[in-house]
Amino acid sequence: MTVKVTNENIDYLIGQWHDSDSEMPLHEYLGLSWNDYIHWVTNGELKQELPEDAWWNTLYNADENCEHNIQSVSGGGVKCTKCNGWFCF
Ligand SMILES: [Zn+2]
Repeated sequence: MTVKVTNENIDYLIGQWHDSDSEMPLHEYLGLSWNDYIHWVTNGELKQELPEDAWWNTLYNADENCEHNIQSVSGGGVKCTKCNGWFCF
């Protein structure tokens, strides 16, 4: 697979897989991990890849189990109103 699977082309690629008589499991053909494939099956869309250095992964003082409620703060930064994690741009 050289084509990266997206929400736009996944139906087409699945059609190709059906036509190809491939021995390969569908999720492998699509280049997805099993978990990503299950995510697609259950949600009807692919998981968005988030950049690993996104600020929401680098909140200081944050509770990693918190579903952050991010507010911007005056002076240029953000904070979570639930766990008090914060990040300054
Ligand atoms: Zn939080």
